[in-house]
Amino acid sequence: MCCNQYTPGTDGLSERDLQPVSHLPFFKERIAGMQFFDPHVHMTSRTTDDYQAMADAGIVAIIEPAFWLGQPRTGVASFRDYYSSLIGWERFRASQFGIKHYCTIGLNSREANNEALAEEVMELLPSFIYKEGVVGVGEIGFDDQTAAEEKYYRLQLDLAKEAGLPVQIHTPHRDKKRGTTRSMDIAIEHGLNPYTVIVDHNNEETVQEVLDRGFWAAFTIYPFTKMGNERMVQIVKQYGIERIMINSAADWGISDPLAVPKTAALMKEYGISDEAIRTVTYQNAITAFGQSGQIDEKDFAAVKDIDQSQKFSGNTVLRGGQQPRVDKNSLIIR
Ligand SMILES: [Zn+2]
Repeated sequence: MCCNQYTPGTDGLSERDLQPVSHLPFFKERIAGMQFFDPHVHMTSRTTDDYQAMADAGIVAIIEPAFWLGQPRTGVASFRDYYSSLIGWERFRASQFGIKHYCTIGLNSREANNEALAEEVMELLPSFIYKEGVVGVGEIGFDDQTAAEEKYYRLQLDLAKEAGLPVQIHTPHRDKKRGTTRSMDIAIEHGLNPYTVIVDHNNEETVQEVLDRGFWAAFTIYPFTKMGNERMVQIVKQYGIERIMINSAADWGISDPLAVPKTAALMKEYGISDEAIRTVTYQNAITAFGQSGQIDEKDFAAVKDIDQSQKFSGNTVLRGGQQPRVDKNSLIIR
């Protein structure tokens, strides 16, 4: 259906025109000139190659939610250092590739189950959520839907409400429909305006209710476990673009930091308008998280004046003697 027009051998078309969008080297040409905002990506777990590829594909700004590191933290100092890195070193690292980096700060649902530690983290959170560039409390919500998860989810909703910050909700992989409904019920119970709450990791089963109740519906394009981007195209065709946004949630697992631009290319392939693509891959995230008062689009351009020899606390992204800006398209590695 999508790719039939690219029949090899068609007269008058270059080899390039004949490539379906699914052929990677050409996908960027289909979205040339477009700008993207990935509102959920864990760059701490990614490499400088990823940053370069994201910048090259048109990603101008990102949000990095605080999350689980893949294994449990054993002390509150690990949380403090992690939150500090999200507003410090990681933001600096992104800037070195011309990408504006924001974050959300919160106690993730999994580690809410270590109650002794969770208590200490709750005491720590107010000293981070008011910092510059923190655009929400997140990602918070349910994992196994335990009593402890609910307790710290509720406490953090109150914190967000008090700070006037948006909330970024992680919905569970298991029993997703019930967990999503419950997350929204509790948010409303705590007096949050659904328009300030971004419900993440939606699928075909949850989207209707999230939109009907006035929340933002975020979709994670993540290989094998969450959404594929062909399904995402169908969701936009069916539900439209209002309060819908797309992210990669790329992290330490098998994931794709280019999921947003790739999905944009696929949407274009399926005839979705540039304006609609811009809404779900850029504008809606800014409108939702911009309610923090922390997002200014002018900063996306300002961060482009990069100098990779800049330092952050005496450290740069360049290791001993490296020259700024390695040409990744060259076979030669100097
Ligand atoms: Zn995440």
